[in-house]
Formats: sequence, C-alpha cells, structure tokens
Amino acid sequence: MVELFQTDASVLDKLKPTIRPRSDWAEGLPPVGPLEVEDEVRFLLVHHTASPNTYSENEVVDQIRGFYRFHTGPTKGWPDVAYNFFVDRFGGIWEAREGSLTQPVRGDATGGSQGFAVLCSLIGDYTETPMSDAQQQSLTQLLAWLSELYGVDTKPGTQTNFISRGSNKWPEGSEVATATIAGHRDMSQTSCPGDAVYDVIQNQLPTEVTSVRQRTLDQFSPTTPETTQPEISKPTLQLDDRPILRSAPVVQPNSSTSLPLVAGAISAALGIVGGLVAMRTRRNRNTDTGQPTGSDDEENQKSG
Ligand SMILES: [Zn+2]
Repeated sequence: MVELFQTDASVLDKLKPTIRPRSDWAEGLPPVGPLEVEDEVRFLLVHHTASPNTYSENEVVDQIRGFYRFHTGPTKGWPDVAYNFFVDRFGGIWEAREGSLTQPVRGDATGGSQGFAVLCSLIGDYTETPMSDAQQQSLTQLLAWLSELYGVDTKPGTQTNFISRGSNKWPEGSEVATATIAGHRDMSQTSCPGDAVYDVIQNQLPTEVTSVRQRTLDQFSPTTPETTQPEISKPTLQLDDRPILRSAPVVQPNSSTSLPLVAGAISAALGIVGGLVAMRTRRNRNTDTGQPTGSDDEENQKSG
C-alpha cells in the first residue's frame, strides 16, 4: 500500500477528472476585481446553489453565467463567481473562479469565508433531493484530486484546525475545528449545501474520496522509488494544471521514497503565482451580453 500524500505528477494526472475550463462558460465575463491565492488549503468545502434541479445539460452554461452576474453584481460585489468549481447534475465539472485549475484561488461565501478551503458547489437544490449518481461520482473524483493536490487528509474522522478570518458563525480570530471535507453550514450560518448532500458529506464522502485516492496511488505510484529521480530539476512555474508546487519540496538526499508533499513549499510557490492573479483588474464589464440571470443562488438568498 502506498502512503497518501507521496504522490508524483503522474498519479495526480490519473486522479484528475475532466474539468471544463472557465473559458467554456465565461466569454465576456472576466473577474471584476483582484483575486487572491489561499495561503494554505486545510479542507474542502461543499456548497449548493439552491437553484432549481430541472435544468437541462444545455442550460448549464447559462446557469453559471447567471451565478456570475449575481455574485459580481451590486448585491454581493464579489470579484468573480464565489466558488472554485461547479458540479452539475449530469456529472459535468466546471472551473469556476478564474485560476482555480492551477492554484487554490480564495473564494467567497455568504456569511463570510474564513478561508483555508477550496470551494466546490453543486448546481441545484439538495435540501431534499439527493445528488444524481453521476454528480456524486464527479464530486468524489474532484475532491479526491484536490485533496491529493493540496495534501488534505480525507480519512474518515480527520479534522483540521485554523484561526478564522471571520464569518457569521466563526468570528475573526476564533479557532475553528472542522472535518476536512465540510459543508458550508460548518463555516457559516446557512442551510447550504442542503440536508441531502450534508448527510453524504458526513457519512460517505470521506470514505469514498479516500478510497479513490488510495486505489489510484496503489495502482500508479512508482514501485521502485529508489530509482525515481527527484523532480527538483523541473521548472518551478508551469502554466498547465500540474502541481507546480510539487517540484518545490526540499529533497532528502537519502530518501528512499517519493517526495513528500510539503505544505509550506506549496504555499511559497503559490504565492508567486498568486501575484499574477492579484494583478488582475476590472475590465470588459460592458461586454457582457449574456442572458438575464434567473439565478436563485444560495449565496444570494440564505445569508442568515
Ligand atoms: Zn454555500
């Protein structure tokens, strides 16, 4: 059995699900303000949009464009759509906030986002309706990839602690303890992501996500680590979605295993890239010619 977090890039490639890039939905809808990169990803946070579940596959793009308009509009005033990823009811996974495919861009949320998370939002209302099989499968695979990428321990019962940056549930400066796969309601006063999904988060996802990771690691990790070349000679910055950060860890000359994932080194690498994102400024706002929103997004409606 290969130990978690000792992943090399080829294993991450196997774990990574198909994700539609932001360019597939965001034509004419760029971020309208600066974006920041998360210092350290401690957990993965699941939302739902609390919008109708009756959308067709062809309507997904319009739905996402609607969420963008509300999130960047006067009510929320966020710089981009709140989340890092969407998962639709057909199992489609979409990059949401710009840059999320390559780095942990900091998100926003109703009630305040105290950070340290990657935000994945299910399109639809899961108060009573369960996820479709395809959707749950995609969410599981997405969380498996993200947790391996950012070194989050997803084993059942695992918790993480951090100091809140402030929400209506956890005032700024308070110590938060949370499961490493959590729901928005764990962070803010909200019913998001709906009871039907929250139950899955608590009782199924930690086991399923960890199992997907473990299977992939066992199958694809190098079996002769002694001959594995350290990855330190690779360029530190690449513009694809591979974990650029993975080349940064300090190499133990006599190590007989793959490189461990070192959170600090990752953060450092991310900080460099983050500067690029932060430089983004408001532009092209008037080129928006998309349809009206029709959005019933949870981040708009359930602030209390
Ligand atoms: Zn939410």
